Amino acid sequence: MLTGKTAVITGGTRGIGAAIARKFAAAGANLAIFATRGGEAAEAAIASCRELGVTAKLYLCDISDASQVETAAAEVLRDFGSVDILVNNAGITRDNILPGLSTEDIDTVIDVDLKGAIFVTKAFVRSMMRKRSGSIINISSVVGLMGNRGQANYAAAKAGLVGFTKTIAKEYGARNIRCNAVAPGYIATEMTAALPEEARNELLKLLPLGRLGEPEDVADAVLFLAGDSSRYITGTVLKVDGGMYV
Ligand code: NAP
Repeated sequence: MLTGKTAVITGGTRGIGAAIARKFAAAGANLAIFATRGGEAAEAAIASCRELGVTAKLYLCDISDASQVETAAAEVLRDFGSVDILVNNAGITRDNILPGLSTEDIDTVIDVDLKGAIFVTKAFVRSMMRKRSGSIINISSVVGLMGNRGQANYAAAKAGLVGFTKTIAKEYGARNIRCNAVAPGYIATEMTAALPEEARNELLKLLPLGRLGEPEDVADAVLFLAGDSSRYITGTVLKVDGGMYV
């Protein structure tokens, strides 16, 4: 249970992040959610968490912009006092084979998926140090472990998150701050919805468990890493991929 804890979830308005937010809310955590866009869908996702009896607030913040992150983090700390759990989930893709990737495609993916997680962690780690307690979970990808044609920028960013995770685990373990990564495989969200039927069927053949993942499959693993059941686990990468990469 996460009763009374405060969790920051980046990208908690859709897909995997929204599923994490709902799981955390059901476990009793109050939520600070970062996303770049508000609007009806984002508000509805957050309202569904509030219906579970917790405080949930949206902070409009582009995590690739260090000054926006600083401002939003200060607001969160003012609103909630301190932070117990941070889930660096927000991420984007700009896929193409290497010659087709523009400098902007490369910069944007690395800025959001890798630097964004670093900025947000930097903004909250002092608060966790003061509490001598914290759990940080970075959402990487199996693509960061195994590579994938057409995703050089994304794979590099997601592999970078693994190195970041291990470093934070070492840097802050003595302060009782744990840091782990989750590496999802192919999960059915807006990010993966564009996959053509044929490619989807080919992919299913590669999955020992024979189905695409659901956001809730990932959220359950994140809930485990966030709470006390994983108290002696830090610096690890937990694959949630239906056996895609074994
Ligand atoms: P999604 O459905 O596209 O949702 C992405 C979330 O991130 C949205 O809430 C989005 O909100 C937010 N976001 C995007 N850019 C942002 C920025 N610059 N600043 C703040 N928030 C930002 O993605 P998803 O499929 O749930 O993926 C979630 C995470 O899992 C990502 O890190 C992804 O790489 C990883 N992952 C996904 C899969 C998969 O198969 N789906 C597999 C492996 C790993 P706004 O648009 O409002 O900013």
